[in-house]
Amino acid sequence: MVKYKTRDEVELIKESAEILGKAHGEIAKMIEPGVKTRQLDERAEEFIRDHGGVPSFKNFNGFPASLCISLNENVVHGFPSEYELKEGDIMSVDCGVFYKGFHSDSAYTYPVGDVPEEVMQLLKVTKESLYKGIEHAVYGNRVGDLAYAIQSYVEGYGYGIVRELVGHGLGRDLHESPEVPNYGKRGKGPLLKDGLVIAIEPMINLGTRNVVQEADGWTIRTADRKPSAHFEHTVAIFKEGTEVLTTHKYIEENFKF
Ligand code: MG
Ligand code: MG
Repeated sequence: MVKYKTRDEVELIKESAEILGKAHGEIAKMIEPGVKTRQLDERAEEFIRDHGGVPSFKNFNGFPASLCISLNENVVHGFPSEYELKEGDIMSVDCGVFYKGFHSDSAYTYPVGDVPEEVMQLLKVTKESLYKGIEHAVYGNRVGDLAYAIQSYVEGYGYGIVRELVGHGLGRDLHESPEVPNYGKRGKGPLLKDGLVIAIEPMINLGTRNVVQEADGWTIRTADRKPSAHFEHTVAIFKEGTEVLTTHKYIEENFKF
């Protein structure tokens, strides 16, 4: 069952998203070779709690951290660890905040120092594909319309689209209906109605679309071990227009690529 939100509820999600955006900004300031991914996780948790929020992911189905940190061939759901970032890595940082009864969810993939040109292009195109999806996430469209917009854009570059993991509705729960895949057919899937709040999150591979789960029971990586990128925003759909509730503004003030 889809739980549509009122304007007042969306305002609360926006408050949660503001804390989330700033937490991402704090992480962005720290990214450089030699930093342990565990330190990023600690900073995010501290920032979120200092601002009255709760990290959505911590203890979610037993997940051990506030951030999902997925490096290089890891797609999503990686654990922060003692690993030290090194030049040439790419790193997806996915975070959620629970505040005043509502979740927000967003992700960003960073290059660490110089990375190969083909990997930079993967990051750029995946980020652009998120905005292609958002452009088509409008009242009266269907999920398939935005999914098709993402798919047709990234497949033009020959990239693989992860199919096993998808975006989702969210609100009082971190994951609600409907599912929001990154591939699909125009005119198909659930209708985008007034008050629908969804996380759109393309997960795009440089190589094939196939993924496997690591033995830790969480981390998803590419089967061919080529790099993967992930960008995510939470958006609200209203008759009067779609609002992007999460922000990458604080990341982009502190980190340029
Ligand atoms: Mg997320
Ligand atoms: Mg999500």
